[in-house]
Amino acid sequence: MYEIQKLIDLKSDRATFESNGGKVFSDVWKQFMCVKVDGNTTEFVKCVKCHHAMKWRSRDGTRGMKAHVDSCGTKTQRHCQLKSDTVDGLLFLHGLLS
Ligand SMILES: [Zn+2]
Repeated sequence: MYEIQKLIDLKSDRATFESNGGKVFSDVWKQFMCVKVDGNTTEFVKCVKCHHAMKWRSRDGTRGMKAHVDSCGTKTQRHCQLKSDTVDGLLFLHGLLS
């Protein structure tokens, strides 16, 4: 698991999130935020639904993110009984999916 994912899961103050909507005019960016750690831009983006962090660079395009949006929706439905809005719930989900 990436260090950045841990910071997000633990809701660390070191990790902050910034919308990329002004730069990229794609619907998929409504689902993702750029991840900053200690105020520094990283190569990671975070899914606003499941808080999953994934590596992303502009040259990669949005294909990887779109693939995540598709699978993220099915995961949310399948595990809708879980308290996914809590850290415990998230860690439980990641344990199930990894
Ligand atoms: Zn997701």
